[in-house]
Amino acid sequence: MRMKTNMLEKTGSSEQVESFMKFTVVTFGDSGVGKSSIIRQLVGEGFTEQHIPTVEDFYVKQMSYRNKTYDLDIIDTSGTYEFPAMRRVAIQKADAAVLVYSLDKPESFTKLERFMEEIKSCCDDSNRMIPVMIVSNKADLPKLSEPTFFNANGLRISACDYVESKWKCKWLATSAKFNLNVAALFHKLLDILCPEKKDLPRSGSILWRKLR
Ligand code: GDP
Ligand code: MG
Repeated sequence: MRMKTNMLEKTGSSEQVESFMKFTVVTFGDSGVGKSSIIRQLVGEGFTEQHIPTVEDFYVKQMSYRNKTYDLDIIDTSGTYEFPAMRRVAIQKADAAVLVYSLDKPESFTKLERFMEEIKSCCDDSNRMIPVMIVSNKADLPKLSEPTFFNANGLRISACDYVESKWKCKWLATSAKFNLNVAALFHKLLDILCPEKKDLPRSGSILWRKLR
């Protein structure tokens, strides 16, 4: 188990303290799809062509977004189906999950089904649901073949439409190699976790509070 940090300097201004929030994000997906590469780009460690299998790593990233400061604790998992107990603990800690598959490995998309079921079952047990983002990584590779899906009427639909209709999840394509959409992925998560005040119902201040 390793702990990684990437902290911006705190100014200590009252404005920042007021808007400071902390979230835990867990990543799941088949081994080799690029989970660690995405996180490493986010925390400024750059990209390596080397695949170093992960057991479980922790990263801390302080992120400024929409004039607010967020502390993200990110749990990077192995991608194998071993360690189910570790995955359950990670899900229980998490405020959000990122499910990654690789665009050059359509079968890695199919494997997300199982991670999704685990998240659902774990959340059902604790009577809550966490937002999940689906990420199609390695968008930089040539000759990619997206997995294809069909709706109830037999019409071909995109992976994005499939994910949104089946799992009610948001979706994003990334390239960890070229650092494309990596920050955008975490911004999108923050948009879901902390919607802008104007999007909230008048009496919805409870949603604005720190989740835990
Ligand atoms: P993990 O097992 O899901 O954590 O995958 P890694 O982040 O360790 O990456 C597995 C392999 O895929 C490594 O060789 C990476 O260099 C490569 N990789 C990761 N992300 C990308 C990407 O966006 N594009 C390309 N071309 N390769 C990637
Ligand atoms: Mg890894």
